[in-house]
Amino acid sequence: MQTGFDLTLSFDNGPDAAVTPMVLDILARRDIRATFFVLGQKLADPQLRALAALAHDQGHWIGNHTFTHSVPLGEQRGPVAEREIGQTEALIGPLAHPDKLFRPYGGGGALHPGLMKESVVTYLTEHDYTCVLWNSVPGDWKDPDGWVDVALDACGARPWTLMVLHDLPTGAMAHLDRFAAKVIDLGGRFRQDFPPDCVPIVRGDIVLPLDPYVSDMP
Ligand SMILES: [Zn+2]
Repeated sequence: MQTGFDLTLSFDNGPDAAVTPMVLDILARRDIRATFFVLGQKLADPQLRALAALAHDQGHWIGNHTFTHSVPLGEQRGPVAEREIGQTEALIGPLAHPDKLFRPYGGGGALHPGLMKESVVTYLTEHDYTCVLWNSVPGDWKDPDGWVDVALDACGARPWTLMVLHDLPTGAMAHLDRFAAKVIDLGGRFRQDFPPDCVPIVRGDIVLPLDPYVSDMP
């Protein structure tokens, strides 16, 4: 394993009443700042929105991860962007990062052309969103005890990893502090910003080829 890597953490699909506070405690103790890509339908619950506000107050960034997280937007027919993205952004409100961070739902973690479709890209560019993808999905939800080793291998595979974890009640986050300790032991540096090759749209400007992520679904 190489040492001296960079690691950006993101926590998707929350907030969760039980797990998000625990994740925030661990990150605060270790002085790590991350991004929480939240679901609109969860923010509609005032208790869960308060957790997003708490994360924001602690210096974390809040991003938009669709309203329903049901079917990848590039695999849904018809108008989806306002309902899935706009509605969520309205609920995020003043908690939003100034760059309007949006992460599409992938359905299992793979990067694929079903992530978005042309009308979704148009919506993101017209409304000045920043599209934040990822380069590591260690599968914490599938393997709540084994993901740490997968995640550490991912950190060694590239100089700067943008990792997707989940603040969900799977049991996986019970290992978050051990993972963070191991990262530090290995010389890893936590940072909050994103590797440029994971961000194809920046404040409404398309800066990387989108073909790998966009379907021809009408
Ligand atoms: Zn997700």
